[in-house]
Amino acid sequence: MALIVQKYGGTSVGSVERIQAVAQRVYKTVKAGNSLVVVVSAMGKTTDGLVKLAKEISRNPNRREMDMLLSTGEQVTIALLTMALQELGQPAISMTGAQVGIVTEAEHSRARILHIETTRLTRNINEGKVVVVAGFQGTSSAKEMEITTLGRGGSDTSAVAIAAVLRASFCEIYTDVPGILTTDPRLVPEAQLMDAITCDEMLELASLGAKVLHPRAVEIARNYGVPLVVRSSWTDAPGTWVTSAKPQGRSLINLEIARPVDNVEFDTDQAKVALLRVPDKPGVAAKLFGEISRQKIDVDLIIQSINEGNSNDIAFTVRTPILKRAEAVAAAIAPALRSQSNPKLDEAEVMVEHNIAKVSIAGAGMIGRPGVAAKMFATLAAVGVNIQMISTSEVKVSCVVDAAECDRAVAALRTAFEIKAGEEGKRGQGRIIEETPPVRGVALDLNQARLAIRQLPDRPGMAAKLFGLLAQHNISVDMIIQSQRCRVIDGVPRRDIAFTVSQLDGESAKEMLTQVAAEFGWGEVVLDSAIAKVSIVGAGMLGQPGVAAKMFEALAQQQINIQMIATSEIKISCVVAQEQGVKALQAIHTAFGLAGSEKFVVPA
Ligand code: ADP
Ligand code: ASP
Ligand code: MG
Repeated sequence: MALIVQKYGGTSVGSVERIQAVAQRVYKTVKAGNSLVVVVSAMGKTTDGLVKLAKEISRNPNRREMDMLLSTGEQVTIALLTMALQELGQPAISMTGAQVGIVTEAEHSRARILHIETTRLTRNINEGKVVVVAGFQGTSSAKEMEITTLGRGGSDTSAVAIAAVLRASFCEIYTDVPGILTTDPRLVPEAQLMDAITCDEMLELASLGAKVLHPRAVEIARNYGVPLVVRSSWTDAPGTWVTSAKPQGRSLINLEIARPVDNVEFDTDQAKVALLRVPDKPGVAAKLFGEISRQKIDVDLIIQSINEGNSNDIAFTVRTPILKRAEAVAAAIAPALRSQSNPKLDEAEVMVEHNIAKVSIAGAGMIGRPGVAAKMFATLAAVGVNIQMISTSEVKVSCVVDAAECDRAVAALRTAFEIKAGEEGKRGQGRIIEETPPVRGVALDLNQARLAIRQLPDRPGMAAKLFGLLAQHNISVDMIIQSQRCRVIDGVPRRDIAFTVSQLDGESAKEMLTQVAAEFGWGEVVLDSAIAKVSIVGAGMLGQPGVAAKMFEALAQQQINIQMIATSEIKISCVVAQEQGVKALQAIHTAFGLAGSEKFVVPA
């Protein structure tokens, strides 16, 4: 007999008929000899409806009252589903987050789970009941027992967390698509279903905009080794498994907040090539990386920060042994990148730096936690290490530093994040997925805004100050890019730094940063809310030249200008203009051969 946690999303419980269909499935699963905890979302678009009501009354509703309001949606579903089960003769009991004992931080609207009581759950399961739990909600541990919510889409996280604490055999996420597809089928109907994806890949995809799973649910599955599958609540098709390696034993206390970082990594065998002043127009990155890939040169990080006037800088790192070849390609192509519309613009210049090292912190627990990157930058600043380039992914922050400072940087980071030397090491990917395509999925995020600060003094501590401030204001930063170009103004070398935040935070972040800019001697703070981020994700792109080139080429063919580029080992993200986002997604999806012959229809 297995203990299974099933979660049903909004559309799956969107009507009386759907709730009855869910009850049938639950009943069948019990009759097959299993014990069940069922986590549900609010019916259909109930949560959106509640948000709308609140907005009609207040432009900026109080967060505590929002949680009070939104948590009611799930409470309706648990009662109705429990009644439907009882109608079938299946003993069942509904429970709110508070009744289960889902204890969270006292952070309204984005609380993380600290601890889940199992006593009441287990007692009811042992009595032969199906326990139907309200997803998305918990209570703060304070005496007041404040109702909290986990953030939109958070029922997935409730379900996986319950599966982790109950040590369930697996967790099934039932939704309105047959599993995880190569991209959102609502935007690209030719998207194809996959049988399996690794947790690391899914973490990136989910954080980069694939709404099918809440990223924090994937994080918990990865950290606690919960077998996770996404399936359709309309069919019996097997769905998509999200695989993870068996993790080391991990405490269930402070479930979502313990140890945001589980690895400090470094690579001293790196060199940097930068092309300065390339024209800011479609096709430039495609041309450069197209040539690099034809020469079979594998690049590691690629970074393009925001433009300055009508030119841009693109920097990339390669392993030292192939530096000479990479430099030669860049030098050969530089004259061809001269801006045609503005021939007076300086010819692109190639700059090479040999003695660099890449130091990274990695860990799934850093998603949505603004303080983690800030702590890394502060740690490096405290030991006087200057950061030359920054590139972030959802689960990693990498900094390029002087090679001579690498040991000092790594030692300081290990101390700061409590990582013992030798403790790190490569994690496996769990069940082997036979073919690892270079690109497994493509995602689009239309909810980000780009902020840039011009002319930040280039000295240790600046990134720490900036991201520390954002963290203090609880503003989560997503992609961070530090520009390559360094210019001396008033005798001080300066660089631009750009990053993306949620659109909701854009204005307030700009306001806050503008207020302090003068005091710290920073330049202008620029906000652009009309951006889209398109990303490709795949563990198979590691060590495969040409993947970036293909992505850039697909965008160039559509005349889409790339505003920023950031990469990690398993993903490449480009920022483009918002109105070109969907077109960019479709072009990239097709370019990587991910489109199937059949069109996909999402149930209404
Ligand atoms: P639920 O209410 O069941 O939690 P969601 O709406 O949160 O459902 O998530 C399912 C939706 O996620 C799908 O209808 C689909 O439009 C969207 N989606 C985005 N990216 C993907 C992807 N890569 N694979 C599958 N679905 C995706
Ligand atoms: N009902 C909540 C929402 O719509 C939580 C969820 O469905 O996961 O965001
Ligand atoms: Mg969802």
